[in-house]
This record gives sequence, C-alpha cells and structure tokens, in this order.
Amino acid sequence: MPTLIDGQQIARDIRGEIASEVQSLRSRGVRPRLSVVLVGDDPASQVYVRNKNKDCESVGIVSETILLPASCSEEELLERVRSLNQDPAVHGVLVQLPLPKTIRERRVIEAVSPSKDVDGFHPVNVGKLLTGSDEEGFIPCTPAGIVELLMRSGNPPQGRHVVIVGRSNIVGKPLSVLLLRKGLAADATVTVCHSQTRVLADFTRRADILIAAVGKPETIRRDMVKSGAVVIDVGMNRVPDTSNPGKFRFVGDVDFSEVSPVTGAITPVPGGVGPMTRALLLKNTLKACSQIERSKTG
Ligand code: NDP
Repeated sequence: MPTLIDGQQIARDIRGEIASEVQSLRSRGVRPRLSVVLVGDDPASQVYVRNKNKDCESVGIVSETILLPASCSEEELLERVRSLNQDPAVHGVLVQLPLPKTIRERRVIEAVSPSKDVDGFHPVNVGKLLTGSDEEGFIPCTPAGIVELLMRSGNPPQGRHVVIVGRSNIVGKPLSVLLLRKGLAADATVTVCHSQTRVLADFTRRADILIAAVGKPETIRRDMVKSGAVVIDVGMNRVPDTSNPGKFRFVGDVDFSEVSPVTGAITPVPGGVGPMTRALLLKNTLKACSQIERSKTG
C-alpha cells in the first residue's frame, strides 16, 4: 500500500509553527504585514488572493488586498508597487499573476523590492538561490513547499535520483536548483524533463522521486513510474466532472488511480502541494518581517 503524503496536515503543522512565531513578534509590538496587489477580475486569481488573506489571518499576519482595475496601466501598477516598497509597515509585497496582457510581468516582478519579494521571483532572489547565498533571500513558495513536504514526510532527497517534469521559472527550474544544493534537504541527482524531451518515460522510470509539474492532466501513467518511487504531483488542472454534468473537478498531472498502487508514497490532488505553497508564503512573509524589523533596530 502506498503512503499518502498529507500536504494538508503538514501545512497545518507549519502554520502552527508560524503562528507561535508571529505571536512572539506581536508581543514585541511587531505586526507582520503582507500586501497583495490584484489587477483585474480573473475569478481564479480572486480565489487565490482570498485564500492568501484567510491563511494570513489564521496565523496572525495582517494582510491587505489592493484591487486595481484591469484597465490600469503598467505605470500605475509600478507606482503602487513602489509605494508599498517604501511603506515601513509593509513586510511582504506580492503581485498576483497572471497580469493583463497590456502589462509586462517582468517589469512588475523587477519592481518589487527584493527584501519584500515573498514570491521569490525577483532576479536578485533567483540569483541568490542559484549561488546558494539565499539565507536572506526568498525561495519561490512551490519549490520550497515541495522540499518541506519531502523532508517532513520522511523522504529526504539526499543521494536520490529526482526527475522533475517541467522547467518553468516558478516550479521546475528553481526546484532543480534547490535539490542540487548541498545538504540533507538537497544533495539529489536531478534530471529535468520538458516538452522537447524524447521518450519521457525513459527518464521518469528511473526516478526515485518523480515530481510532475507539467500543467497537463494525468500525463504521468503507471508504466512511467518505477515501483516504490515517491511521486509528487504539482499539477492543478480543472477538468469537467463526468459524474456531475456541468461541474468541474481538479486533477493532477499524475493519473492517481493508475499510478498510486505502484508508488512508495504519493501526494493527492487536491491536498498535496497546494497547501504547502500557501504555507510557504506565510513562512516567507514572516522571514521578510523578521529581517526588515531587525534591520530597523540595528
Ligand atoms: P508551465 O506551463 O509554466 O510549465 C509546464 C512545463 O511542463 C514546461 O516546462 C513544459 O515544457 C512542460 N511540459 C508540457 N507538456 C509536457 C509534456 N507533454 N512532456 C513533458 N513536459 C511537458 O506550468 P507551471 O510550472 O506553472 O505549473 C505546472 C502545473 O503545476 C500546473 O498544473 C499548475 O497549475 C500547477 N501549479 C500548482 C501549484 C500549487 O501550488 N499546487 C503552484 C504552481 C503551479 P516547455 O518548457 O518545453 O514548454
């Protein structure tokens, strides 16, 4: 029987740890604060932002959402971000992606102060991750959450062959760098696959730990997974629910019912990586707050 890796429970544990650290900061008069900027009215983004606010509230982090219309110009958005950078009461700044097509995402990501960049997308933080000098930088939440998930579920990547399917800037690429570093929570042998990989199964079948971040429902099938492998499914795909006409459900990038019986451990969708991404945003916000407040006092 495979072990189900319970991302909900692990995320709950992390939130508990964060809540007590927030409590101790608040007792010293420090109120960690996250500002989220949402441009336009994309329903999925609205849900993500609402969840971020709820998560913050659950651990005592103050959160605010700045709503801007879809018609807002790039310059207006940049101005907003700059004013949050300057605001001493704000510790974390996050601009919800994707942005309307009229706004260049890269410019906005680069406008966020690296010291408040709790998404970890700013080139300064990406560079710190790459060079291993990220003690004071920020690691993107999904890759950081996956590493926590592996460690806390008793599946350290050290010395294992990890195969990542997907090379995006927010998941696959930073995750590959994280796992290549030295240390118990890393030290893996990493293979990264993508849409141009020939015969994907030749690589996935060799994974001790297989991480699917493809963005295509149920791409990973049973014959692509080595017996006993640990499988982490990052995918979050909305598909029609055949047993409930007119409704939708979420499935991962792994065909769970086919694959789970051959695995040693596997994450469910939902309830695996998603809650970890959310928990790590809180962790990054707490880190930003501690660093900013420390720099104020000395
Ligand atoms: P992207 O679309 O940015 O990247 C997908 C990657 O998969 C690309 O590198 C692409 O290759 C590769 N790919 C696509 N098709 C294939 C294929 N047939 N075989 C091999 N590789 C393929 O997606 P993201 O990284 O942003 O997200 C991946 C998934 O994870 C999505 O379902 C997303 O919703 C989910 N997600 C979930 C999060 C969570 O918290 N649970 C957070 C972030 C994402 P190429 O580069 O060549 O195009």
